[in-house]
Amino acid sequence: MSMDKPNKPYPTPPATSITSTQSPMPMYLPDPSIKGISFDQLLNQRGIRFIHHKAIPCMNVQSTDFQAHEPDCPFCDDSGIIFYESKEIHGIFQGNSIEKTFEAHGVWETGTAVVTFPTEYPDGTQADFNTYDKLEMPDFTVRLWELKGYEPRPDGIQSLRYPVQKVEYASSITDGVQKFYMPGVDFNVTTDGNIQWIPGKEPSYNSALERGEVVGWAYFANPVYVVLQSLRELRITQELIGGVKTARRLPQQILVRRDFMVGSGEKIVNPVVP
Ligand SMILES: [Zn+2]
Repeated sequence: MSMDKPNKPYPTPPATSITSTQSPMPMYLPDPSIKGISFDQLLNQRGIRFIHHKAIPCMNVQSTDFQAHEPDCPFCDDSGIIFYESKEIHGIFQGNSIEKTFEAHGVWETGTAVVTFPTEYPDGTQADFNTYDKLEMPDFTVRLWELKGYEPRPDGIQSLRYPVQKVEYASSITDGVQKFYMPGVDFNVTTDGNIQWIPGKEPSYNSALERGEVVGWAYFANPVYVVLQSLRELRITQELIGGVKTARRLPQQILVRRDFMVGSGEKIVNPVVP
C-alpha cells in the first residue's frame, strides 16, 4: 500500500450560508462564534471534518466511593474510558499557532488548540462536548510511533493504539540483533487498521517469561484530539424571529490536546473522574 498524494480538494462542508465565498487568504480570526451568520460562513470556508467520540468513565470499578478500576479491563482496554457513540461534525481550529502552521506547512504541532463547533450535528441533534471525548480527523494522517510487545494470537492480529493506515517502519532488537519487518512480507495491515502477522514471520515469544519481542512501529493514523474542557460553553443569545424574542445557543469553543504520546505509562486508569 503506497502513500497517496492529495488528489482531491478538501470536501466542502455542508453549505450553511448562501453568501459564502471562498477566501483566498486566511483572515484574522476574532471570536467567530459570537455571530451565528459569520460563524456559518467561516465553517463553510474553513470547516474540518471531525468524528466526535463521546466518552464516559469506565464503570468497571468496585464502588463509586473507592474508584479502584479492575486491572486489565477488557471493556475499556484498560484506558479507564468507554466510548459509546460517534458522530460526524465540522469544526474550525483557531486561536492558536497550530492553525497557521497547518495552513502554511500542512502539519499539526503537538500541544493544545481551540476548536469551535456549531451547537448541533448535521442531523440537527444537539452537540455537546465533555472532558475525555475524542475528536478524530478522518481526512488527515499523522505519523505516530509505538513500542508494542508481540503477543501470539490464533488469528495473528495485533492492534496498535490507533487504527493503522500505513506502516512506515517496524523493527525489533533482541540479544543485540536487529530485525526488520516489512509490510506484505512479514505482516499485513487489515482493512480495519490492525497488524496481521503472516504465519511463520512472527517475532519471537518467550513462553516461560510470557514476554514477546518488542517491536517499534512507525505508522500513519488519523490524528486524534482529546477534549480538555469546554470554553465559552452554553452561551445563549436572543434574536428576533418573526418579531418574537427567541433564545438561541451560540457556537461553542472547546480546548483540545493532541492525543499523541504512546506507551504503557500514558493511561487514564485511576482516578478516572477529574
Ligand atoms: Zn475499564
